[in-house]
Amino acid sequence: MEKSNGLRVVLFPLPIQGCINPMIQLAKILHSRGFSITVIHTSFNAPKAASHPHFTFLQIQEGLSETETRTDDNTRLFTLLNQRCESPFRDCLTKLLQSSDSETGDKKQRICCLIHDSGWTFTQNLAKSLNIPRLLLNVYTISYYRGHFALPKLRGEGYLLSQDSEQDDEVAQEFPPLRKKDLKRLLGEKRELLEPYLNMILESTKSSSGIIFMSCEELDQGSLSKAREDFKVPIFAIGPSHSNFSAASSSLFTQDETCIPWLDKQEEKSVIYASFGSLASMTGSELLEIAWGVRNSDQPFLLVVRDGSVKGTKAIPEEVMGMLNEKGKIVKWAPQQEILKHRAVGGFLTHNGMNSVVESVCEGVPMICLPCLWDQYLYARLVSNVWKVGIHLEHRIERNGIEKAIRSLLSENEGEAIRERMKLLKEEVGRSVKPNGSAYRSLQHLVDHISSF
Ligand code: UDP
Repeated sequence: MEKSNGLRVVLFPLPIQGCINPMIQLAKILHSRGFSITVIHTSFNAPKAASHPHFTFLQIQEGLSETETRTDDNTRLFTLLNQRCESPFRDCLTKLLQSSDSETGDKKQRICCLIHDSGWTFTQNLAKSLNIPRLLLNVYTISYYRGHFALPKLRGEGYLLSQDSEQDDEVAQEFPPLRKKDLKRLLGEKRELLEPYLNMILESTKSSSGIIFMSCEELDQGSLSKAREDFKVPIFAIGPSHSNFSAASSSLFTQDETCIPWLDKQEEKSVIYASFGSLASMTGSELLEIAWGVRNSDQPFLLVVRDGSVKGTKAIPEEVMGMLNEKGKIVKWAPQQEILKHRAVGGFLTHNGMNSVVESVCEGVPMICLPCLWDQYLYARLVSNVWKVGIHLEHRIERNGIEKAIRSLLSENEGEAIRERMKLLKEEVGRSVKPNGSAYRSLQHLVDHISSF
């Protein structure tokens, strides 16, 4: 860490794994630049404070019941969190600001700003009334963030749902590079409170003192300048810094460390790693198709089946467990970044969560795309159709298709070309976060911006 600059930043992540990881990464980056860090978090999905002894953690009670946290409508969960957190967050931040005012001598550190997940919408008036500058951390790519505000209108018009299915493979002009079939799936998701929630996010974005993306120009060509026009606030694309600032320490689940010695025994670039993040769930028969697909490819495989990710059952179906032969390993949660870094891993069968995609790019691992919801559809298209560093399963969870995709990716000419492009993309993104790269410069601007408050 650089010498302390006497400034403290208050961070407030949304309590899901895919949002906590980038926020903790941002904390590590800012800490390395001399800022002190306070993380305010909910008791639901609280990050492990002990893993980050340099940061101060303050917990607020959002009071969600277990039933309320177990919903398949994320917008409802986030709306509820916003309602429940406003008052305890206000109390916590007010006390924090008062105590920082009263600290003296060496301990005196000025709280210079609040950085919260873009999904918190109640903070706008609160930060204004407490006179604290407020920036957003965005866990989407810039292209998705810009585009997703149009979703309620598209849903309302309903015309996509009535389109001829022959045109389903065409690019959706309303939200490229999504295909019409992706957009139909996305619009079909259960999100009752979507319109008011997105309106609040947009308002909160436009009135913020800046937006931070863990993306970079190399991954978000063209969208950065358009986003600056749309939102009219400073935008910082500070890049995926996974190699320098790992997310492993912010894991909410216990990582099965036996994966690494198992990988050590496998041949170079031979293993298919299959994992679907912290939220996606599937039916028992879908999981079986995936398990048979990876098994039949004859490649060694490492499959993550999170507790609760198979609908209607807590246990992994017996038939899947039966596939645990000498070629495969099934775990409940894996040290993903270490796995993607491992020389034995040749491909990633993924749900295309933003973090998983950028982690895979940073380690140069080509992907097989099986997006399940929301922004994942867009990243799957970026991976397969724009960057061309992966194969899309086109929403078919079927063993023969999975087996064929694995064979193509790991052994055939198609795979060779994909691996070559992935190598180049990894290098481009790697250069971006090094001195003089676009993301590195953007980070410097962010540091200057925050320091100027
Ligand atoms: N992850 C992990 N172990 C696993 C699966 C996922 O450590 O077995 C991490 C992964 O490295 C990533 C995060 O969990 O940082 C998942 O975020 P992502 O945006 O990919 O998906 P989400 O969970 O939000 O759907």
